[in-house]
Amino acid sequence: MPSLEILIPAQQIQTRIEAMAAEMDRDYAGEPVYLIGVLKGAFIFMADLARAMKTPTRLEFIGISSYGAGTTSSGEVRVTKDLDVTVEGRHVVLVEDIVDTGLTLAYLMKLVEQRKPATLRVATLLDKPSRRVRPVKVNYTGFQIPDKFVVGYGLDYAEDYRNLRDVCVLEE
Ligand code: 5GP
Repeated sequence: MPSLEILIPAQQIQTRIEAMAAEMDRDYAGEPVYLIGVLKGAFIFMADLARAMKTPTRLEFIGISSYGAGTTSSGEVRVTKDLDVTVEGRHVVLVEDIVDTGLTLAYLMKLVEQRKPATLRVATLLDKPSRRVRPVKVNYTGFQIPDKFVVGYGLDYAEDYRNLRDVCVLEE
């Protein structure tokens, strides 16, 4: 049976998100921002981040699916839902649940850069820097975590566990 161990409790996530939102509010100084959430994993983080920000935001989503249902990224990404709007000339923040090898983020940044935003930054709740294969610049990071497979707060294992309030380590 798989077991779950709390890595980051819900309250700690909320406190950190408020600090991230305050930092983003300072950086954007009232200029409107498009937050682009990467489905499905980032939807809960984006909901809390957007509500903690005072900056005027518009909320968009991009849908991707990595091939396979395993616990590692192949870097091969399929776009399942593209942006519905043009972001040309706008400030854009890509909102990710977790950056692991960096392959997914590198792919997404290239995709969004082709849409010619005024600026493009990245906010991620979690980062596993020890696993990086592609160097990617992340502007706002919630927590750096060790090389463990985590679920909860939007993150899944084969579509389960997304609704957990805490970020948990899943052990087989
Ligand atoms: P990367 O391309 O950076 O290796 O992987 C990013 C994607 O892999 C994330 O958006 C997420 O879908 C998945 N991923 C990487 N590490 C984890 C993890 O610990 N837990 C879960 N649930 N997904 C992960």
